[in-house]
Amino acid sequence: GATIGILGGGQLGRMLSVAASRLGFKTCIFEPAGDCPASHVANYHFQASYDDHDALRKFAESVDVVTYEFENIPTEALDVIEAIKPIRPNRKTLAVSQDRLVEKAFLNELGLKTAPFAAVDDATDLAEAIAEIGTPAILKTRRFGYDGKGQARIMSPDDAEAALADMAGAPAILEGFVDFSHEVSVIAARGLTGEVCCFDPGENVHKNGILDTTTVPANLTGMQTADAVLLAGKILNKLDYVGVMGVELFVTRQGLIVNEIAPRVHNSGHWTQNGCTVDQFEQHIRAVAGWPLGDGKRHSNVVMENLIGDDVDGIPEIAKSGDAIHLYGKADAKPGRKMGHVNRVTGPAN
Ligand code: ATP
Ligand code: MG
Ligand code: MG
Repeated sequence: GATIGILGGGQLGRMLSVAASRLGFKTCIFEPAGDCPASHVANYHFQASYDDHDALRKFAESVDVVTYEFENIPTEALDVIEAIKPIRPNRKTLAVSQDRLVEKAFLNELGLKTAPFAAVDDATDLAEAIAEIGTPAILKTRRFGYDGKGQARIMSPDDAEAALADMAGAPAILEGFVDFSHEVSVIAARGLTGEVCCFDPGENVHKNGILDTTTVPANLTGMQTADAVLLAGKILNKLDYVGVMGVELFVTRQGLIVNEIAPRVHNSGHWTQNGCTVDQFEQHIRAVAGWPLGDGKRHSNVVMENLIGDDVDGIPEIAKSGDAIHLYGKADAKPGRKMGHVNRVTGPAN
């Protein structure tokens, strides 16, 4: 049977490995850390750094196709792999999604709305950006941010200096604050032959910059749902995408505004494990393996709750509820660390 190579050994890599195994594939992860969530379930683990091109070459030679669970893979590492095996989703997608500035320009070019934005490399840029965009606004590092890290709110121009200091010299982007009523995401998949399948949009609530809950169905009109799904399809088609993508959206009176895209399975898609016949992990494996996509139809309403840090201490109680528990096998429950999630099925799909 074929072997799927996965860059990254976190919980997403773990759940991808489980899905791949169910389809009869073997998995091989590439991950510098030794004991990591995916290492407990993958068949093989290349434990090496992304600068170790020899290890990368051996990894690529040992698998049939390479995918990834995080978007910040060094370009040189991708070059080494791509000379040997296909990388799905493709390089273009990574180039777009690794940099918030490039990503927003790409989305605007496609005709999709984003927050107003400006590049900020220094104090002069920031002053100009604030004059143009106004406050409140958010300064974000262009690269490497996740779970709300690398972000600083600017409530008034007086906050500019401190916000810039938070960027620690990294290239940044100022985003106008979007006055949204709520946040939703579309988990969309595109197969090797171009077919697109979107899961129903989920409604997301964040706590301390980290996703807390996803609820399906989301509070959206039929028109908003169609809009969300169509714009996601537009992004995937434009990128000639293969795999699953998370598209984060703000719902506003002016319509849907794209916050960001994630070229991988997404935390806000974990509800699909217990709400759909084929979940986002199987869908991603099907796509990157060149299989037809599965039926992503939602059969149940679900509330997904992340277990962050100490939340995981509640497992004995949660276990009594009968809800579906997904744990990542992480040893220490540090604050802000995603330890697992619970999918509470709240009824048949409506
Ligand atoms: P993720 O873990 O989803 O990758 P991230 O670190 O990339 O998170 P963002 O998605 O950019 O961060 O922002 C985190 C949250 O902060 C958003 O889901 C939203 O609630 C809020 N937020 C971000 N940008 C804006 C904005 N321009 N206007 C209003 N709220 C925003
Ligand atoms: Mg992000
Ligand atoms: Mg986000």
